[in-house]
Parts: sequence; C-alpha cells; structure tokens
Amino acid sequence: MKKRIILALAILLTGLQVWAQGDKAHVEEIVTKSNIQGHIYFLASDELRGRATGSPEIDIAAQYISSSFTRYGVKPVPGADEGYFQYVHLQSVSKPAHVSAGLNGENMEPEDMLVLRGESVTSEAEMVYLKLGTEEDFRKYKKDLTGKIVIVDGGLPEGATGSVFTAGTEKADRALERGAAGIIELWGTEAFNWAGIRQYVESERYRVAPKPSADQSFFQLWVKDYEGAYMDVINKAKKQKMMVSLGARNRKDMYSKNVVGMVEGTDPVLKNEFIIYSAHYDHVGIGKANDEGDSIYNGARDNAVGVVTVMSAAESIAKKPTKRSALFILFTGEEMGLLGSSYYVENPLLPLNQMVYCFNSDNGGYNDTSVATIIGLDRTTEAEHIRKACEMFGLTAIDDPAKEQGLFDRSDNVNFAREGIPAPTFSMGFQAFDEEIFKYYHQTRDNPDNLDYDYLEKFFRAYVMACRLIADDTGKPFWVEGDKYYDAGKALYNPQN
Ligand SMILES: [Zn+2]
Repeated sequence: MKKRIILALAILLTGLQVWAQGDKAHVEEIVTKSNIQGHIYFLASDELRGRATGSPEIDIAAQYISSSFTRYGVKPVPGADEGYFQYVHLQSVSKPAHVSAGLNGENMEPEDMLVLRGESVTSEAEMVYLKLGTEEDFRKYKKDLTGKIVIVDGGLPEGATGSVFTAGTEKADRALERGAAGIIELWGTEAFNWAGIRQYVESERYRVAPKPSADQSFFQLWVKDYEGAYMDVINKAKKQKMMVSLGARNRKDMYSKNVVGMVEGTDPVLKNEFIIYSAHYDHVGIGKANDEGDSIYNGARDNAVGVVTVMSAAESIAKKPTKRSALFILFTGEEMGLLGSSYYVENPLLPLNQMVYCFNSDNGGYNDTSVATIIGLDRTTEAEHIRKACEMFGLTAIDDPAKEQGLFDRSDNVNFAREGIPAPTFSMGFQAFDEEIFKYYHQTRDNPDNLDYDYLEKFFRAYVMACRLIADDTGKPFWVEGDKYYDAGKALYNPQN
C-alpha cells in the first residue's frame, strides 16, 4: 500500500515536473535577449525624453505598450476609457489666495496659519473647544455642532504613535460629519519643523483630482500657538466667536493614462480570479544636466525594465493562457507619488476582491547578477513559487535586504496591499541599497546601453515563470499570518466575517 502511494506520488511529481518543463521551454521561446533589448532601447531612448507624466513623450510609451498588447492578443478591459487606456485626472492646487482669521475680535497672524482644507469661504460662527478632538471628545459634546467652528489641541494623545496628518484628518472628518463649518488645530508645543511642514502642505504638486462633488467649503487649519497666546484669548472670552476667511485656490489639470489589458483564464472556476501584473512606465523626464551636458533621465532600470517584465508576462500569457485570468497594468505618475496606482484602486476596472495577487515590478539598479530581489518575498504564500522560478533560470530569490529604505511602501504595490491584495515587488538583484545603486537611481546615467542583458534574460524569464506558477496553482495566494496587511486581506475577501 505504502509503495503504491509512493509510486502514485512519484508519477504525480513527474507530471508536475514535465508540465513545469513545458512551461520553461515556452518561457524561453517568448523571453529572449533580443526581444528585451528591443523594448528597453525604445522605452528608454532619448527620443522619449525620460517619460515624464504629462509630457507628450510618455503618451508615445503608452501607445507602444498598447500596440504590443494588440500584437500579443491581450484584450482591452470592458469599462476602460478608450482601448487599453484608463484616463487619469491629476490636479495641482495652489494655497488659498488669502487667509485671515479672528478670535473673539482679535486678528490672528497669517504666518501662524496653515490651511490644510478649504477655499473660498467666509465664516463667522460660534466656536467650541473640544480638547484633543478624539472620538470621545466629540461624543461628550451633546449640543449641535452644525455651522460651528471646532477648536482642538494639535497632535496625538500622549504616548500614541502615528502621523499627525492622519490624526488631523480624522479630527477634521469628525467635525465635518457633525456639520461643523471647520476645524482649527492649535499647536501649543513645538512638535515639528513648522517651516518644513508649511513647504510640504503648500507645495503645488500633482495629486489625483478629487471627485467633482467634494465639498470645498469645510476648512481645516493648523495654527501655531507656541506661546499659548491664542489659547489665552479663548480662555478669557465670554462669547466664543471666530471669523475665518479663505480665498480661492488655483488649479492646474493634467491628464495621463494607465495602460490596462487582460487575458481570460482557462479554468472555468479559477478564471474568476485575477492576478495583476503591474509596473509604472513613467519616469522623471528632463532635469539637471550632468557634466557631459546630458539632461535626459532615460529611466532604463527605473522602470523600462519593470514595463518589459510585465510586457513579457503579457506576451507569454496571451499566447498560452494560465488557469487564472491576468490583468496587466502599466501605471503613470508613480514618480509623482504613486498617482496612477492610487487612481486605479479608487477607480478599479474590475472588482478588487477578484484580484487575488498583485505581482509588481519596479527597479532602481542592481549589484548582484546571481539574485533577484523581491520586496515582500516572504510576506505572501507565493514565496516558494517565486524561489522555484528563479532557480529554474539560475538565480536565487532573496527578500528585501534594505528594510531601512521602506521600499515595500514606496512603490505602486502598496496601494494594492492597503486594499488587502498580497502585493510584492520584483526587482533586479541587489544585496544592499549602496553606491552602485545610487550611481544609476534617478540619474542621467540610467541608460539602456549599460545594462547586463545576459542577466536580464534570466531575470525576465524568472519573473514570467513565477507568474505562470502562481496563476496555475489552485491554492489561493494570501498574506503570511501576522503581516501588516493580513487583516485588510481578510476584510477584502471575506467581508461577512
Ligand atoms: Zn520606479
């Protein structure tokens, strides 16, 4: 009996081996050095001028990817804006043209005020002091808050850790929900570098444009009160009155594109599950010239390489579909703050709870051609498949060796992780984020002619092979227990529990 089981197991294993070998030959046929070189030399050419989001040249890259999808047999996703394109509306917003405020008849200094939300409002209203503005502080206030101005102390409760921005947003949302006209956080201690925060808040950088329905009249102000002078005014006055007036903001719109395509899976059940294969295709464009006068930041490593990993997977899966369905997404706006992927998770073309894995590819540089570095390798259940795929092409898969860089949370994968979707990032081999990486990372030197294409052939084949192993395995991918995003995953896939 035992022997028979062993024999059956042996046959099964041989079967898997043969099947994996069949896939290996297929991958070797699709992913070749000349194919890779052709794509990278085009995407990272001087003619594409560094593919800056909003430039005409990034649209040429988008067209190139979309034409390749057509050639491979990748299908557009129903609901996309046009063919393979999802239009991404970005916007940069100036600070309000003017800011003024008065506390019980006394004017406040404009230099003390930072406007985090709101524009074009003039509000004169009763103010209510609600301590730190915690949920409990709000609950304890039994009267109506409609139209009133809420004053709270700045920051987090003592001993709590977290972002003061997030805490501030939560306080503001509490006030907004209860119908308040606005909220003011008074900073009584020198908790941070005020000038630095001002520069950050007031910088005119592009973000995903808010939905047109968003209410702009609610305001959120941070007020510097290190000397406690404003708090004194509040404490002394009998009638608590406040006046706030904010001017209009200027807006600049920018439209860019995510490129999205799909291939339906072959398994009647598993085809309802999708694996996302993603990479950003933008880079930083034209910048400061180097000593030789080169000002084009070509972005060969960052991230023409990532684009080509996804294109290679697209070609392979279109020609030989996997059991699960595949969704290929090339993001715009990553270098501006992960904007294309933020936009996508806010406006997904397919339900996010059908996306069981996101296998992202992003690259800075490499310093070890015997490995592939997978940021988050051991954080999902698919580590074994990725290790195996790397081994098949003579590479060793290693996890993030530079955790201090926070790389997991610095690429597009994190927007999917936050939704609960297991999402590691596949990168060219590096053992440390050292000088060799910084030599190319966001430098004019990041060109297609100084890449090791023998290594890249193995690297791309390993990625595509890993894609196939994950997409054909009937076991559903998930986070490793205890991971930061484990609960988000539970909430996404089993909302009833
Ligand atoms: Zn990148």
